[in-house]
Amino acid sequence: MGDKVAALFKRMGVESVEDLIYHFPRRYDDYSHVVKINNIKPGPVTIKVEVKDVQQRYVRRGLHITEAVVKDPSGTLKITWFNQPYRAKALMPDKQYFISGDYQFNRDRYSIINPAAELVSSFPKNTARIVPIYPETKRLKSFQIRRAMQEVLPVIARLQDNLPAFIVKDFGLLPLNQALKQLHFPDDPTNLTAARDRLGFAELFELTLAGQLNKLAIAAQSGQTIKFDEALAKRFVASLAYKLTDAQRKAAWQLLQDLNNKRPMNRLLEGDVGSGKTIVAAMAILMAANNGYQVAYMAPTEILAHQQHETLGSMLSPFGVKTDIFTGSLNEKRKMKTAKSIESGEPDLIVGTHALIQKHPKFKNLSLVIIDEQHRFGVNQREKLLGKATKVPHVLTMTATPIPRSLALTIYGELDISIIDELPPGRQPIITEVIPPESRPSVYSKIDQQIAAGRQAYVICPLVDDSDVLGVKSVNEEFRRLNSGLFKHRRIGLMHGRLKSDDKNRIMTDFSTGLYDILVSTTVVEVGVDVPNAAVMLIEGAERFGLAQLHQLRGRVGRGEYQSYCFAIPSTNQQLSRRLRAFAQMRDGFKLAEMDLKLRGPGEVYGLAQHGVLDLRMAKLSDAKLLARVRQAADDTLLRSPDLLQYPRLKKRVNDLRKITNLN
Ligand code: ADP
Ligand code: MG
Repeated sequence: MGDKVAALFKRMGVESVEDLIYHFPRRYDDYSHVVKINNIKPGPVTIKVEVKDVQQRYVRRGLHITEAVVKDPSGTLKITWFNQPYRAKALMPDKQYFISGDYQFNRDRYSIINPAAELVSSFPKNTARIVPIYPETKRLKSFQIRRAMQEVLPVIARLQDNLPAFIVKDFGLLPLNQALKQLHFPDDPTNLTAARDRLGFAELFELTLAGQLNKLAIAAQSGQTIKFDEALAKRFVASLAYKLTDAQRKAAWQLLQDLNNKRPMNRLLEGDVGSGKTIVAAMAILMAANNGYQVAYMAPTEILAHQQHETLGSMLSPFGVKTDIFTGSLNEKRKMKTAKSIESGEPDLIVGTHALIQKHPKFKNLSLVIIDEQHRFGVNQREKLLGKATKVPHVLTMTATPIPRSLALTIYGELDISIIDELPPGRQPIITEVIPPESRPSVYSKIDQQIAAGRQAYVICPLVDDSDVLGVKSVNEEFRRLNSGLFKHRRIGLMHGRLKSDDKNRIMTDFSTGLYDILVSTTVVEVGVDVPNAAVMLIEGAERFGLAQLHQLRGRVGRGEYQSYCFAIPSTNQQLSRRLRAFAQMRDGFKLAEMDLKLRGPGEVYGLAQHGVLDLRMAKLSDAKLLARVRQAADDTLLRSPDLLQYPRLKKRVNDLRKITNLN
């Protein structure tokens, strides 16, 4: 292709033949049925015709009309193109054309407007077939992409399959080259389905193999046993102000069992926002400290690190656990001092942010690593922290963005999973409403009532400063507006990511001790922040947030005994998106995660797309039968070739995936 077109492709991320081949259609238009003109019915149609007459005229500036009368043995039909002046020249008499488009009632009669037309051939690209519609841009349309795709069909025909031949055969799959050809130019719906099945199968198959190999590798390692002290565990639980939920008890039990083993633990603790994961982690920390080991607890934000340091410290210090904090905002002197103390083995628990993965601190005997909100960290960051242990450490990762179990098992096949699937008793469901902007005053009066009753509120805005985007709120402006207007009589705090760390921590502490009635903030409070007295969450510019994010924000309230409210206000009075409707209707984070997965795909949802490699575009993770078949295929393959040496292409691909999915 020419440089200009190549540049357009590049803008879509297509820079090589391989990229092009893996530029999958977004959807298809079925124009495969060729009908006679006298038999034509409304809807998508293809006719096979000769052109009798072509007229064109400029109606006015900006409106050019091409009208063609076409005929087949059964009759004639008028076709119209708007603003496609090249059509007239392209349509030659005495040639046969396929014309595909929508036969519809327009103005006074049925006709086909702006159809695709191409010379009849044995391999039509744009007509008379199931036509692929690609993700396109303004200047790069599907017909151009189809043209390029046809050029690379000979390459597709020669592609070598990653899947072992016996798997393709045993599981009745299309070979790779057939699958790709059928995906771009399907012969019929059956072949298209088979192509998608095959590609989805391969995606999951490779991931599953990666997970299984990781699991085997972990099982072969040995770490440090953290002995379970039952009496201590009981004393700790008895010291709490509340009773553990059954789900917390079960998760804690699984964890402590894992630790009490030479084989390093590799466990994901999933629990909806507010389900009480911290306390479960605290029990693991207690055991590790009791065995004389150090624990690193990494959180994604400074605010969260400070909060967790406080919380864990106050729970654990009565049991002799020494804690310290290590974050980027410490001044150099303090950092050096803390790092030294960590190296000497002084603190048992070190809570921190990304700062923990720098060269310093080193640890004396790190044996348990806890990663809170693990989806916020990249693979390398996790790896670096784990690398600071002398032996392979036990790893506990926690997330409140619940990953549907099927996805978790596939992506993180080597993980054991504990799920906290109940909230502490007495929590009242958060009342969630999507409010049109003009009804904002009613929300404000609700907030005022709540403050009068002693509660606190969050007001979340998408931006820090005003922008050109009309109607999108910024914290600075909103803070000024509320502070000098409606809520003049209330105490309002202002929080956003650009503040200095010290200020952020102070403001957060002030909010949690009740010094502010309202906290106007960006999403820096999104994860983990725990202020049980807060009962109203107002989300401005709600259409700008993803489902998981909305759910996390909502999770900042309803953390105590009080009835809580979440109000989502979109910037404009537009039609509600599916996302916002789903958000208002569903409270269960797991269900929302499934929904999010459907709307956006796993790459987007779990930030895995950024790695480029893990891109599940075909696989349906909700398909339990498919997952079972894939697992069978992975077992069969490892049985034949435990190290995959027989299948070098597959091995290479699986090795890449292993690095990404490995949490240990
Ligand atoms: P998350 O799972 O979102 O990290 P947290 O661990 O921060 O949740 O806990 C949320 C709140 O619930 C905290 O204020 C905590 O003290 C409280 N909590 C945790 N477990 C229980 C329980 N079993 N009963 C009552 N309150 C609990
Ligand atoms: Mg938490």
